[in-house]
Amino acid sequence: MPTTNWHQLTVQEIMEVLQTDVNRGLTEEEAANRSSQWGLNELPEPKKESAILRFIKHFKDVLIYVLMGAAVITILLGHYIDTLVILLVIVINATIGFIQESKAEKALEGIREMLSLKATVVRNGTRAAIRSADLVSGDIVVLSAGDKIPADIRIFEAVNLNVEESSLTGESEAIEKSRAALPKEAVLADRQNMVYAGTSISSGSGLGIVVEIGSNTELGKINASISAVDQLQTPLLRQISEFGKVISAIILISAVVMFLIGYVFHDYGTAELLLSIIGLTVAAIPEGLPAVLSIILAIGVQRMAGENAIVRSLPSVETLGAVSVICSDKTGTLTKNEMTVTSILLKDEDFEVTGTGYSPEGSILVNQQEARPSEFPELKRFLDCVKTVNEADLRRDEQGQWVISGDATEGCFVTLAEKADERVDKLKSLSKIPFDSSYKYMASLVEIEGEKFIFVKGAPEPIFDMAELETKSDQLAMWQKKIQEHAKKGERLIAAAVKSVDFSARSIDHSDMESGFEIIGLAGIIDPPREEVIDSIQQCKKAGIQVKMITGDHKDTALAIGAKMGIGSNGLVLEGKDLDRMDDEELAEAALKYDIFARTSPDNKFQLVRALQAEGHICAMTGDGVNDAPALKRADIGVAMGIKGTEVSKEAAEMVLVDDNFNTIVKAVKEGRRVYDNLKKTILFILPTNVAEGFLIFVSILFGTVMPLTPVQILWVNMISAVTISMAIAFEKLEAGAMERPPRKPDTKLLSPYYLFRIAFVSVVICGGILFMLSEVREENYGAAILHTMALQALVISQLLYLFNCRSEKGFALNRDFFSNKAAFLVSGILIAVQLAVTYVPFMNVLLGTAPLALEYWTWPLLIGTSVFVTVELEKWVVRKFFKPSS
Ligand code: ADP
Ligand code: MG
Repeated sequence: MPTTNWHQLTVQEIMEVLQTDVNRGLTEEEAANRSSQWGLNELPEPKKESAILRFIKHFKDVLIYVLMGAAVITILLGHYIDTLVILLVIVINATIGFIQESKAEKALEGIREMLSLKATVVRNGTRAAIRSADLVSGDIVVLSAGDKIPADIRIFEAVNLNVEESSLTGESEAIEKSRAALPKEAVLADRQNMVYAGTSISSGSGLGIVVEIGSNTELGKINASISAVDQLQTPLLRQISEFGKVISAIILISAVVMFLIGYVFHDYGTAELLLSIIGLTVAAIPEGLPAVLSIILAIGVQRMAGENAIVRSLPSVETLGAVSVICSDKTGTLTKNEMTVTSILLKDEDFEVTGTGYSPEGSILVNQQEARPSEFPELKRFLDCVKTVNEADLRRDEQGQWVISGDATEGCFVTLAEKADERVDKLKSLSKIPFDSSYKYMASLVEIEGEKFIFVKGAPEPIFDMAELETKSDQLAMWQKKIQEHAKKGERLIAAAVKSVDFSARSIDHSDMESGFEIIGLAGIIDPPREEVIDSIQQCKKAGIQVKMITGDHKDTALAIGAKMGIGSNGLVLEGKDLDRMDDEELAEAALKYDIFARTSPDNKFQLVRALQAEGHICAMTGDGVNDAPALKRADIGVAMGIKGTEVSKEAAEMVLVDDNFNTIVKAVKEGRRVYDNLKKTILFILPTNVAEGFLIFVSILFGTVMPLTPVQILWVNMISAVTISMAIAFEKLEAGAMERPPRKPDTKLLSPYYLFRIAFVSVVICGGILFMLSEVREENYGAAILHTMALQALVISQLLYLFNCRSEKGFALNRDFFSNKAAFLVSGILIAVQLAVTYVPFMNVLLGTAPLALEYWTWPLLIGTSVFVTVELEKWVVRKFFKPSS
């Protein structure tokens, strides 16, 4: 298609060119037709680095360089089998790294898919949310604050529509949009009647026609990808890779020292000595560790996605485990966001509304009698107002359920109007102010019988200001009384008001809202709490995680809901306006002291996150609107809502809740703790083997005794058995009691003194056992191959039994969760089979330099393995008994 200067055409012309209609939109059939003809509204996948390049990247690693050096030396010495095996290990290592990375990327890609953009369109005259990918040219799109713009769109209706276009123009100020046709020369940044794919709406609302999709959009032309690259590094992985560098340095230095010792004090041949030192090098490097750790993280991400928590990057999995305070919205996260108007409170009468949910069955009663709007003109006016100042639609879905599209607080008023005995029409709005939680109201300019009015609905306080109630104290007291009565029951209150304006008025803005309004009445809305959340809040308390409620609602409403949910039992509540007045010190104090914050604005969320972080908290914060984005970005874990959240908030967040449910946050925190524990256990599991191996070789060089293992055998233990066994840890369940201890301090060292002790302790037991065995069974009687095989088996059996020690860091290994991890037993089975093969299959004997063992030769390896298991359990018992568990 030739490019058209869409900004130059009138809306009428565009409708003709694109064969569409601004009121009805396209038909579903036509849209499907166009989609199959012109394709999906997607940008081509950014070109990926080729698989080979990504594979090669995994060779760039200090540890690998050390191994390569070792390979070269073995070639020079003519030990070709060793060379072959070391090379094989290098390749296997890179392959594992490559597979692990692809797996992590796949997991994140799947998540990107789950986060695919949605757009609201008008088709067949009704609004519906569809995948942005399914948009076609000619579609009519409804735009509101917080949306990511899904395609290039010509605006034909705009209400204070401000768009953030920095991604396209570099201009960071929001640009106001309007509908008029523009001259051809207008450059992109000046085309006020167009909005472009990849930008986002910072405030206001509008309607537009899709004119370009996919790679024909401006974004497609510059071929920029919107989704930022997700980080694969995590604090823990970084610590590990730094640790790896330190290890390499230590190993290289000790290799040189060993060489000198061997050369000066013993009469080793140079070749033999070099081989031993290669053995030492290879032994001490935990080759498999990085791969195992990332696999554990990637599995964590996938499991969280299965639990409705979409985590957008691997580091967040770790951070989640350290969360110490969760700040949650009330509406929709702690409550169900199923709003029902249950009462209408007017000056002279109070009405009761029956029926629940969005179904329009039910009626408006006064003194148990059906109230007809025609008999109560004030009721009629109230209904007109709330139905008109409203962007929601009510309809039946395929299953016949009544559902709304749009905001729940508006949807419940559509239902209310349907319950009235007489038809309530939505009046045409000549101009609108959309709802925003920082000023908490919305308004419309309407014409009724040759007169113009502004209808407004919103939180009572700002509406009372518009009616200047502070000067009419009797009225104020009367309304306050009604509010309190209902707010104490946990109802959300909305006030409606009206003001007559001059007929010449054509548009309204905030300056028209300052005074002169007359209150029509109030509505009390119930929004039932999510029952299951009550329990998860208790769990949080046990786990040392504070839960704070942050809501735009009235303080009595917040307190009542808080009491039901178990938040803020001390009856304390603080309002946003009080936060606004505080300095940093007072803020920090308030953020800790109060659990419920009412009548807050999005700015308050940001203040609270900052204050809590300054006090050393790791803070999760929920949000859904555009204005929440800064707080979400600032929080350690920004949590966006999958259902009612805006695209902008999702992009700012680390985690998206598919079901908007507070419970899901708690599940994710649990999973985060599990993953972190398992990462630590993996390290605790793998390192002792390396230290023991290194030590064995060190000792034999020092005393000039026979080498207990060949380099090839050591690599086998490090790469195959250690990696295989440690995979079992990835599937280890959350330990009983893990949600009963306080969150971990984010700055705790990976290798705590206890860890260092344990690693040293286990290494000594393994190493000592093997040395003892070697001193008992002499080479003269057995031959080198048999001895090597026995040492190898002793190591692997110790590893396998030590796995069962590590499954619980400090608890008794044979606990009631012993059989809970099937993977541990699967892995044991596999490992036993493989080790038997290593011992008895001739081909493996040649490759690994092993020999078949007679039955009695297994006694030593089994004894050593068992002694590891028993002594570690004893050590844990002593620690439990005599030291307070700290970490
Ligand atoms: P929450 O944190 O509960 O989502 P909001 O900032 O969305 O709080 O809402 C604050 C107050 O604004 C509500 O208590 C209600 O009185 C009013 N309000 C909320 N949504 C709307 C709406 N769509 N139209 C008018 N008023 C609203
Ligand atoms: Mg809200």
